[in-house]
Amino acid sequence: MTTVPVPADSLFGVQNLPYGVFSVGGSAPRVGTRLGDAVLDLAVLLGDDVFARPSLNAFMAQGHDRWVAVRREITARVVGDIPAEAVHAVDDVTLHLPVEVADYVDFYASEHHAANLGRLFRPDNPDPLMPNWKHLPVGYHGRAGSIVVSGTDIVRPCGQRKGTDDPGPVFGPSVRLDIEAELGFVVGTGSAMGDTIPVAEADRHIFGVVLFNDWSARDIQAWEYVPLGPNLGKSFASTISPWVVPLLALQPARVPTPVQQPAVLPYLAMDPPWGLDVDLSVRWNGTEVSRPPYREMYWSPAQMLAHLTVNGAPSRTGDLFASGTISGPGRDTRGAFIELTWGGAEPVDVDGEQRTFLEDGDEVVITGSAPGRDGVRLGFGEARGRILPARRS
Ligand code: MN
Repeated sequence: MTTVPVPADSLFGVQNLPYGVFSVGGSAPRVGTRLGDAVLDLAVLLGDDVFARPSLNAFMAQGHDRWVAVRREITARVVGDIPAEAVHAVDDVTLHLPVEVADYVDFYASEHHAANLGRLFRPDNPDPLMPNWKHLPVGYHGRAGSIVVSGTDIVRPCGQRKGTDDPGPVFGPSVRLDIEAELGFVVGTGSAMGDTIPVAEADRHIFGVVLFNDWSARDIQAWEYVPLGPNLGKSFASTISPWVVPLLALQPARVPTPVQQPAVLPYLAMDPPWGLDVDLSVRWNGTEVSRPPYREMYWSPAQMLAHLTVNGAPSRTGDLFASGTISGPGRDTRGAFIELTWGGAEPVDVDGEQRTFLEDGDEVVITGSAPGRDGVRLGFGEARGRILPARRS
């Protein structure tokens, strides 16, 4: 038996206990939790084979009451002696994609982000928001199969682009490759076709939260998105953090969303809607260029899930919906480079260089943390990715 020391300022103390999937050496991936700088093998710790699987899906499918019970059991077990064979140093393990992602939807829930993009793309329109924006959480269906775990290299996408003055489209590597710093919400249990998930029940369906980078090729996106929305400009890759922070751990981080005015329709009404006080950080080649505040998001996760299912569309274990770019009111809180550099017109200093969009070899790391109880902070790990050159042009 052994014990795991946890420094008082660790982002992975007993209040967090996120879930991930790890392997050691050539062993088969299995579910673990993180405590301090250790990864605990949950199949060994709890003696339950539901954790001897390469994804969280089987455990998530057991439902909310089971999530509560397991969290209570882990909390009780980690404060005492732990079987040594359940403990691995985090530096000795490989972290894998924690969830077998079913369907994926990306929203657009930041008013600051939506208004900034409105000003950039529709400068002559007096209202930077589209008429629907405050009535429903705008979103689009993305590509679940290209969601990858932190550390996966991102190949620069090729595609069509057409500048406003170009006579026709050209094909080649994207020249305006960008990020979107977001949170992703993992659906633990879904709803049958024809059913809905009301806002008041959403937190029994949402299993946990990850950091999310929605890599975006702005030039491909700008040419393709009318009238059906983003497609190849985003479907090439999205990066998530390896640790899924349980929604159960984020109770102390709940905050009301900003005031929603005009009043929303009854199926979206909450009193008040709850958001999350998560601070994100975006580092570009080691330089922190932004600190997006999730608490500023206009639409709450419960409203996004209720909207996703209000038409009777089925949802299922492993569904992932992301918040959309997180931007606050200040320039240094903008979660996408197109906003941060105002369409490329105002470069930012990255380690002494003036930069606008991503170059080959660039690395972006998104981190985040949220308040727990008694001044403790809970970490999300990181969503890291490096840009590789395009493979064809
Ligand atoms: Mn996005």
